[in-house]
Amino acid sequence: MKRNVLIIGAGGVAQVVAHKCAQHAVEFGDIHVASRTVAKCHAIVRSVREKGHLPAGAVLKAHALDALDVQATINLIKRTHSRIVINVGAPFVNMAVMSACIATGAAYIDTAIHEDPLKICEAPPWYDNYEWKRRAECEKAGVTAILGAGFDPGVVNAYARLAKDAYFDKIDSIDIIDVNAGEHGRYFATNFDPETNFREFTGKVWSWQNRKWTENKMFEIRKEWDLPLVGKRTTYMTGHDEIHSLARNLDVPDIRFWMGFGDHYIKVFEVLNNLGLLSEQPVRTAEGLEVVPLKVVKAVLPDPASLAPTYTGKTCIGDLVRGTKGGKTREVFIYNIADHKQAYEEVGSQGISYTAGVPAVAAALLVANGAWDVRKMVNVEELPPLPFLELMHGLGLSTRIRDEAGDRPLTGVAPERASVPHRDERVAETV
Ligand code: NDP
Repeated sequence: MKRNVLIIGAGGVAQVVAHKCAQHAVEFGDIHVASRTVAKCHAIVRSVREKGHLPAGAVLKAHALDALDVQATINLIKRTHSRIVINVGAPFVNMAVMSACIATGAAYIDTAIHEDPLKICEAPPWYDNYEWKRRAECEKAGVTAILGAGFDPGVVNAYARLAKDAYFDKIDSIDIIDVNAGEHGRYFATNFDPETNFREFTGKVWSWQNRKWTENKMFEIRKEWDLPLVGKRTTYMTGHDEIHSLARNLDVPDIRFWMGFGDHYIKVFEVLNNLGLLSEQPVRTAEGLEVVPLKVVKAVLPDPASLAPTYTGKTCIGDLVRGTKGGKTREVFIYNIADHKQAYEEVGSQGISYTAGVPAVAAALLVANGAWDVRKMVNVEELPPLPFLELMHGLGLSTRIRDEAGDRPLTGVAPERASVPHRDERVAETV
């Protein structure tokens, strides 16, 4: 059965989602892109058509929508007969969009945890604050809600589940490592929405250690990793969505998230933060104007989507898992390498948007074909990982594994295709 898709948001990630959905319009049906600034939706539609990604006769339409208006979203879902909603708008709209899905029975997929604009870094586990409160509602309505189906959260959750199912009897620790070794050539920019990006780092750093929530300060704990293709990289322990569900869903004592930062990013961040310019709380100017400093900073920084044309270099994101198998200790790194320039050439977006958007479309395809249409709310690690990783391979993001046997494409994911150099592996061979 065809399942029309409604994409909410028209930023960098939505651009990737629209291109990939268009390439799979035969499986999905009609595709709709709706966002606050309709001109950005039209630009996405133009980009998909220019790249020739929309099959003849397929429908791709742009709509204006304030997704915080639940009734307007319900009306649009009904008008477009959408059965799958891919929410890649700002994380502030998640609960409103979920309400519209529950009211209409449409499946819901997002790529980031819900946030209240006036609250940063709520009590862990973060999903308990909003999403998980609505599990019963989703189940009662028979609504499939897949939370955090980007790369991190998303693919890294599937990697953790795969490690548990296939590579370990017992897992001692999962370190999720996210390194962007790309260069955008601007003085300072964030790779996705600056507001969401900074909010990740201005609060406490929560990690799951010794089966307890542990609190640290941002940039307090630093660690260097030697990673495939991108080499030695400095990362800092950071709070992140997926720790909050993995700690609940997998029986693992230590789960940490590490993000790569250059000295320049840290310097600019600290100046902005120390000046109070990253605050989410409104301030009043001498002229009586009420402004949120963080929103002003967002307004003056480059739009992350605008970085795409000149972005070069690669990302390396994966799970370093330690534990035991057959009585022996082992360490396995399950990861992906993506390339900014390739992403731009294919869909007009930079690599961070690409790594977030492709998995959301893979999840939507699995909902459309029934494999992940579970009719309840789940995080990605609660679903079978292999169909997801297999689909992503075909969509442009391959999984590799590094362990005591060496570094290779993931076996079990289309082994017949694993021997054919795929997009990312071709990159690996030429670098
Ligand atoms: P952008 O800021 O580029 O895009 C967000 C879009 O949402 C914009 O088009 C914005 O509209 C729209 N929007 C905001 N508020 C509303 C509203 N009330 N109604 C309708 N549309 C609205 O962000 P990205 O594309 O970079 O990121 C999208 C999502 O993906 C975010 O939630 C981000 O956290 C997540 N993400 C997840 C990753 C992962 O790996 N899991 C990685 C990267 C991002 P306007 O243009 O008017 O501002």
